[in-house]
Amino acid sequence: MHSPTLVAIAAILTVLMTFMLLAAWRLNPHIPGLKGWTLAYGCSLLVCLNLLLRNSGHEWLMVIMTQMSSFLLAWFNLAAARRYLGRRSLPVLAGVACAVIVLACALYFTLLQVNQGARFLLQSYTAGVLFVMAAGQMATGGVREYPARYLFAAISGSHGLFLLLRPWLFRLGEHGMFDRHGTLVVSHLAVVESIIAVVMLGFSVVMLANEQVTQALKHMADRDSLTGAYNRRAFMAMLEKATLYAPRLGFPVSVLLIDLDHFKRINDTWGHQRGDDALRHVVGVAQDCLREGDILGRLGGEEFAIALPNANQHEAEQIASRLRQAIAAQPLQYTGTILPLTTSIGVAAWRPPESPDGLLHRADEAMYQAKRQGRNCVVLAPQAD
Ligand code: GH3
Ligand code: MG
Ligand code: MG
Repeated sequence: MHSPTLVAIAAILTVLMTFMLLAAWRLNPHIPGLKGWTLAYGCSLLVCLNLLLRNSGHEWLMVIMTQMSSFLLAWFNLAAARRYLGRRSLPVLAGVACAVIVLACALYFTLLQVNQGARFLLQSYTAGVLFVMAAGQMATGGVREYPARYLFAAISGSHGLFLLLRPWLFRLGEHGMFDRHGTLVVSHLAVVESIIAVVMLGFSVVMLANEQVTQALKHMADRDSLTGAYNRRAFMAMLEKATLYAPRLGFPVSVLLIDLDHFKRINDTWGHQRGDDALRHVVGVAQDCLREGDILGRLGGEEFAIALPNANQHEAEQIASRLRQAIAAQPLQYTGTILPLTTSIGVAAWRPPESPDGLLHRADEAMYQAKRQGRNCVVLAPQAD
């Protein structure tokens, strides 16, 4: 029923897309999901070949090839989407079990109870459901932040819905709703839809890969590689942004400057490696104490700063005290050794038109005052002039 020319065009496009994804995967093996999508495109190539060679082999063999390639294509697409999002991989056993069930049903409707319509329904529904599931998985995280994910979800979802509707379109033809020409149009429409889906899905996968690379580069540029906290440059940029928006939105901004006490001794006594562990540990404890929107940066060495949008001086002091106590109460522990850690914290509240550097400088001075007062304490900076 399908036009061989259209199917050949679909096959050529699929070959091109498969090679493009193969190249992208080989060049960027760390991008999650690319391998799965490359395999999915390999399977869609098999689907095209099956359509082209449908009358040239044993029927049961062609049925096995068609059902399996169609099922695996949709399964790899779903598995790749989950992998891309860092979700748990689909259990291999579940995949094998589903494939066996699909195959058993397909062979039943080929060898025992010959029913071409039931086979078509089986193929369309299994693939349709899996494509819609992949779309559901991907439509998370916010369309503004992750537009490529939503593009993928829209394409995978529409293709899945079309596959679910496809048997009914053909059925309408069989029941006399269309003439022979109408049924042919439906058949061509199915191939044209597949061509569009192949191209658009490939395009959205490339966009997803681009999103991944951009995020990795941004992470590398903005984060301190040892602790994962923002580096000084990114922290200052975010603090500047907070002080820019604060007057407009009417919320206060405060800053904590945190310095680990006698950190040199920790390095000298336990070694540099343990010192690094201690820095990571302090960042972990601090992150547990902070609210969403608070910004933790490593200014250098064992000195950290936290920008607290929406906290006045009193609230910032409370957060600082909580943080100081949490760090003192949770020493770094390893193989029976307890490594106590304390911090001196300076707190400063921002008042326009003070610059972010000026704010940080006042917090720094308060932190040095805390050192002079005997360490392991919180000191408030005097208000800016
Ligand atoms: P104080 O209580 O006065 O702050 O004493 P301190 O020993 O913490 O102060 P000082 O600034 O003299 O020492 C900071 C030490 O932090 C010196 C340096 O070896 C260590 N340090 C800086 N960066 C790192 C790092 O990335 N890893 C490790 N392990 N140590 C670091
Ligand atoms: Mg120190
Ligand atoms: Mg220091």
